[in-house]
Amino acid sequence: MKIASITSHRLRVPLGDKTFYSSQAAFPERNSYLVRIETDDGTVGWGEGGQYGPAEPVAACVDSVIAPRLIGRDPTEPVRIWEELYAFSRDFGQRGPYIEAMSAIDIALWDISGKAVGLPIWKLLGGRFRDRIAAYATGCYYPPDFDDLPKLLRALEVEAASYVDSGFGLLKVKIGLLSPKQDIERLSVIRETIGPDIGLLVDANHGYNAGTAVRMGHLMEPLDVRFFEEPVPPEDRDGYRKVRAENPIPVAGGECDFTRYGFRDLIAGGCVDIAQPDLAVCGGFTAMTHILALANSFGVATVPHVWGSGIAVAAALQAIAVIPAFPHTANALPLFNAPVIEFDRKHNPLRDDLLEAPLTLEDGAILIPDGPGLGVNIRDEIVAQYSS
Ligand code: CA
Repeated sequence: MKIASITSHRLRVPLGDKTFYSSQAAFPERNSYLVRIETDDGTVGWGEGGQYGPAEPVAACVDSVIAPRLIGRDPTEPVRIWEELYAFSRDFGQRGPYIEAMSAIDIALWDISGKAVGLPIWKLLGGRFRDRIAAYATGCYYPPDFDDLPKLLRALEVEAASYVDSGFGLLKVKIGLLSPKQDIERLSVIRETIGPDIGLLVDANHGYNAGTAVRMGHLMEPLDVRFFEEPVPPEDRDGYRKVRAENPIPVAGGECDFTRYGFRDLIAGGCVDIAQPDLAVCGGFTAMTHILALANSFGVATVPHVWGSGIAVAAALQAIAVIPAFPHTANALPLFNAPVIEFDRKHNPLRDDLLEAPLTLEDGAILIPDGPGLGVNIRDEIVAQYSS
């Protein structure tokens, strides 16, 4: 089997009146970079690179640099190809779009490797620990008129209740755009709406400095927040260490980090309780296996981040399937010691419409596909509809 073609797809969905904010920015559109690799016997593999940055630089790395090097290669050697591509790009591409391009390629090569032998990726990676993964809803972003607090609080009640009604046992909420006092008001309304038994997580999208993050951690403690994601900018390793040492809530981070080298610094540096590599960012399945071993040996849990299309969610399911409980118990519990999957709930047809069989929630969990490779089939008409 040889790689015959590598095709980039840049997908874009304007959100219009569904635009929302994190602490960092408005999201006026959804976009995904997808790669399609076809072999000489007609096998097709799909991958995704990046999470919400512009797709053009990732496409340029694939089209101009990586693809010409891989045509004619055996696609069932993703680990070897990863190391060769990284060695080639070390001097200029240790982070950013180049590694996101490698991530997309790696995911597609593992997809093909599975299809070549008729096995799901989780089997190629050594076997799954579970057949379904508890999911947390990511929602409760800020609306464009976020300065109208009474209106915002009323809308939050409706939105938070909808996640409980859908069967989620965990909910992740954005913080960091408004003042700590206003965000505590938001979180209090959400806690009151969802009751004491639903796990509440928060994500600041690196919107605080370390001092504010520590203060926020103490303010949130009575609300039983289970983890505090990206409290400070990813480059501020000292800030991470301060937040971890001085705030009472476990610290999560890593969606902006790349490869085993970036995660070495995050994990061995004592920055996080929970590492959150994103498969489409960190270097695909191959990098995920490195990061998992590193995290485990330093007493850090691994809970992958995922915010992309249906392909990114399918890849995350395959990867999380093979993450052991940490630490082992005879009754692993979601988030305490069993990994969970992020399930973004804001409008995104690239997530909900791209797969022939959509990934859906069942009793608060998503079933891990059993089919070969990623275990999902892509709807070409949706790729065509949103291609830019
Ligand atoms: Ca995040």
